[in-house]
Amino acid sequence: MNVTSFTIDHDRLLRGIYVSRIDHVGGEALTTFDVRIKKPNTEPPIEISAIHTLEHLLAVYLRSEESGIADKIIYVGPMGCRTGMYIIVKGNMSSKDFLPYVTAAFEYVKDFEGKVPAATSKECGNYKDHNLTFAKYEANKYLSEVLLCIKDENLNYPG
Ligand SMILES: [Zn+2]
Repeated sequence: MNVTSFTIDHDRLLRGIYVSRIDHVGGEALTTFDVRIKKPNTEPPIEISAIHTLEHLLAVYLRSEESGIADKIIYVGPMGCRTGMYIIVKGNMSSKDFLPYVTAAFEYVKDFEGKVPAATSKECGNYKDHNLTFAKYEANKYLSEVLLCIKDENLNYPG
């Protein structure tokens, strides 16, 4: 088995933003970020409906002009364990350099009002399974407890 993310010691992993891997595809580097919202196996994972809403809102924001990084965003998606998101970015980028974009994206979720974007049967595979209230709660918690007071240990995987 050769899956880099399975080699990380999840017992020592804190909430934060980590470079999960850097791949080289056709001369281009792609950075996969581990945006870890919950401490693994310690606190309850994110509610399914809430992480679904987080996925929609983070993707919409990061792919918008407002984010300042839209042209580099390749992929935004939830982890199956529901403790975080994977975000793939074009180029070789550090977690420290990615931090302001992630912070702005979670601020966008925290302050979001209105209907969840693309939550219709035409645009989404499970459009009724959303929870904006919980998504906003999780965004606010991650911002105030992690992103806005980040330390080195929240930006680098445990060695
Ligand atoms: Zn959806």
